[in-house]
Amino acid sequence: MPRFRAILDTMPPYKAGKAVVSSDGRSYKLSSNESPYDPLPSVVEAIAEGARQINRYPDPAAIKLTEAIAERFGVPAEHVALGAGSVTVAQQLFETVSEPGAEVIYAWRSFEAYPLLADLAGVTSVRVPLVNEEHDLDAMAAAITDRTRMIFVCNPNNPTGASIRRQELESFLDRVPGDVLVVLDEAYREYVRDADVPDGLELYRDRPNVAVLRTFSKAYGLAGLRVGYLVAHEPVAAAVRKVIIPFAVNHLAQIAAVASLKAEDELLERVDVVVKERTRVREALLAQGWTVPPTEANFVWLRLGERTLDFAAACAVEGVSVRPFAGEGARVSIGDPDANDAFLKAASEFPRS
Ligand SMILES: *Cc1c(COP(=O)(O)O)cnc(C)c1O
Repeated sequence: MPRFRAILDTMPPYKAGKAVVSSDGRSYKLSSNESPYDPLPSVVEAIAEGARQINRYPDPAAIKLTEAIAERFGVPAEHVALGAGSVTVAQQLFETVSEPGAEVIYAWRSFEAYPLLADLAGVTSVRVPLVNEEHDLDAMAAAITDRTRMIFVCNPNNPTGASIRRQELESFLDRVPGDVLVVLDEAYREYVRDADVPDGLELYRDRPNVAVLRTFSKAYGLAGLRVGYLVAHEPVAAAVRKVIIPFAVNHLAQIAAVASLKAEDELLERVDVVVKERTRVREALLAQGWTVPPTEANFVWLRLGERTLDFAAACAVEGVSVRPFAGEGARVSIGDPDANDAFLKAASEFPRS
């Protein structure tokens, strides 16, 4: 029997959202925060055209995509680093800081990939509990030790949807020592409408220890192709580029991401529709008597405690898959109006307490 790393025995496996089907054949996948829309025809066309070149390796430096991101956001190309989804960029970040004894701080509950990546990298996770579904930035600052190498701040937070305001985040960043990297995970940035929730791309400019993580998986609808990126000052971006597995971002992903930036206006119109649906869904839930924290992302959060799995089962009867966290609550993505209506029906029939 080969001997494996001991951590593999205790690591929680990543649980991806699943689809369910109702007895009459309906299926609404609201468990992975995906875009509910079909890909844009212009993006599909670009991918089809790119398929003619797949006998060749992709551009390892992804120059076209890197330049398109740099131009779109008004940052130097040297500040951009790519990965096969932002989860992989996050893994690359762990690779850059992980030494025996290193600690990485993040809020909990937050994105379920963080503990997994920390365990894989062999670093110690320091989890700081949420307060009222929000990051407790004072407690996170207090948790910094001389072993802290990195802090993840997920804004808006997955799975609660709660967001950190500008002043709060700035004063936190001012308290973090310059040799500790702060990663602002902004996977849902495009869905933010509260002007007081800061754009990480503004915050990173005069802060060499701040990195911004973004993805094409959610608002841009490319979850199936795996492409994400980081924007940070050159030493951080260069370190993240250094640890990428060669050719990780495949040719079709590069092409689709460039095409998506070209078609951004169209994609952001779709995001607007999702944001309107988010308001409709949350207000309907509040009217039904649920407690729903304000959300700036493409999902809502219901703290159901011990009833979480029963709630997920009740939604499944309607063909609605949600993302349950046993004993805590359920995250429900905002889908198209039909899917949202199916979810609201299931929620209306489930006892409030
Ligand atoms: C969905 C999500 C990601 C993006 O993952 P990809 O690997 O880019 O698909 C990153 N961070 C958070 C918090 C997420 O919810």
